[in-house]
Amino acid sequence: MKLIDTHAHLTSEQLLPVLDDVVARAKKAGIEKIVNICTDEQSLAEGVLLHEEAPWIFNAAATTPHDVEKEGAVFFPLVERSALEGRLIAIGETGLDYFYEHSNRQEQQRYLSLYFSLARQAKLPLIFHCRDAFSDLFSMADEEYRGYPALLHCFTGNLDEAREVLNRGWYLSISGIVTFKNSAALREVAKYVPLDRLLIETDAPYLAPQTHRGQLNEPAYLAETARAVADAMGISVDKLAAATVENAVRFFSFSKVP
Ligand SMILES: [Zn+2]
Repeated sequence: MKLIDTHAHLTSEQLLPVLDDVVARAKKAGIEKIVNICTDEQSLAEGVLLHEEAPWIFNAAATTPHDVEKEGAVFFPLVERSALEGRLIAIGETGLDYFYEHSNRQEQQRYLSLYFSLARQAKLPLIFHCRDAFSDLFSMADEEYRGYPALLHCFTGNLDEAREVLNRGWYLSISGIVTFKNSAALREVAKYVPLDRLLIETDAPYLAPQTHRGQLNEPAYLAETARAVADAMGISVDKLAAATVENAVRFFSFSKVP
């Protein structure tokens, strides 16, 4: 079974020291491609090196909504340069997080706007992080990013929010949270999303699936999430795997990054 992990922080501080083993285990587990999410200067520099060694691992970059207050200004020009040089497969994760609100809302919105412009300019899709902020995300995107491609990563919203995501033509990505016992609502969402708009991800090193809960997460664990999503949808895991790989290839156009 082949899978694509559409969201992993491989070059994060947590995974960098064990990166060689993590990449080897991913390959052994049938992970065909990984989208490495770079959130600061070091993770992006390491990500660029990683892509040279392992051309099946691709990079996306942006400051997360959590960190824009402290790090947004320093990192933005680096993301911009990498995007315009053709080194990135997507811009993200960017968005709004009013649950933690580690950065104030105005700054989160200001950077989201900047990343909307950059994504349009560089002709790259966006990866959204959104928690307790869907109505602002939708209204800002309708103003500034209407009709452009995006995916909602680690979706944990409700059915209405899923419907709004799909209405905008965006994709919806499900993480290992779907394997947790108390995630019945997310399994309902998985059942609702059309098979051609669904993606799966680990969000490694965070959110390890149920059988690895409490450990560092890694792409090799993606099959457990695939099985949980397939069960929720009432289809075979092979069918789910094939569909999500096809969707990821369509969404990211991997061939554009040499
Ligand atoms: Zn993430």
